[in-house]
Amino acid sequence: MRCMHCYVARWRGRLAELGPAARLRLASEMVEAGVEWVGITGGEPLLLPDFWRIAGLLSGAGVEVTVNTNALLVDEGVAEKLSRVVSRVYVSIDGSRETHEAMRRCRGCHRRVLEAVRLLTRAGVDVVPVMAVSRINYRAVDEYLETVAELGLETAALIPVMPQGEARLTGIWPDAETYNTAVLRAAVRAKDLGLRLHLWCTPYAHALRLPGNVFYGNCRLSPTIDIDPAGNILLCDVIDVVLSNAAEKGLVKAAEEAAAHPLTRAIENPELSGACRECPYRGRCMGGCYARSLLVYGALNAGDPLCPLLGSKDKAPRDIDYHG
Ligand code: SF4
Ligand code: SF4
Repeated sequence: MRCMHCYVARWRGRLAELGPAARLRLASEMVEAGVEWVGITGGEPLLLPDFWRIAGLLSGAGVEVTVNTNALLVDEGVAEKLSRVVSRVYVSIDGSRETHEAMRRCRGCHRRVLEAVRLLTRAGVDVVPVMAVSRINYRAVDEYLETVAELGLETAALIPVMPQGEARLTGIWPDAETYNTAVLRAAVRAKDLGLRLHLWCTPYAHALRLPGNVFYGNCRLSPTIDIDPAGNILLCDVIDVVLSNAAEKGLVKAAEEAAAHPLTRAIENPELSGACRECPYRGRCMGGCYARSLLVYGALNAGDPLCPLLGSKDKAPRDIDYHG
């Protein structure tokens, strides 16, 4: 299965992934360093044979573990095991049955995902569904939220598909009008249904003046690091801007190097230009998503391409060869 929007598809065959021993060592270092939360994402983390060992080691040491999954490998036994090692499971549900299966190029997988959510919920797992919003499914937010409510869940999340990986090839990443239409529709429908709506990677959301059931943050202010399968600490996992390598240097030293890196400084204290400089929300938004800015405009702090206040600057994403 190769989803139309998979941003990590760019790594296929290009990264020297760490082996099980190095992954386990990194997890141990996280425990020793006092890391509070580890989010295991993919690809599909449940395909990793050592997923259970790593998640067990972390959770056994008191580290909060969450996992993002397409849930296709979740049966009753897996749901029960997950209830013991993770505090939350994020499950991808990309709109209606038709849009979910079109984006995932996978017939029948929508029904299987809903069944997996029921199994997880029955096993006592906190499930939060996540819809990746694209040009294909942005009108299907109502059906998505209705499904979430029918499943008895209280929170739903949206994330814009990024112009990266497979989405760069298929061109299904949304422009500002498309994504913000989805967000505004979702905010209203979620309120009707009594759901909390979380917006991931939407730091300019202040500009949309959304109701109180909608929540969002800003990664520029978050004390987290992104580590790719090769142990690289990235500025963000959507862009291959490497700040250090945790497998080569050790987690603590690499994290210190990453924190002191000039590009980290550049996103924490951005020099904004154009409309962002005069924007009333700049203190909280800080120029929005720097990964999207880099991918679309070729610079980290050129403003968020999805922000409605910046007008329609939508362009085809630039060709950036991080590995060249
Ligand atoms: S830089 Fe953009 S894609 Fe990366 S975490 Fe922040 S908001 Fe999300
Ligand atoms: S104009 Fe710039 S700072 Fe203001 S909300 Fe938009 S992206 Fe953020």
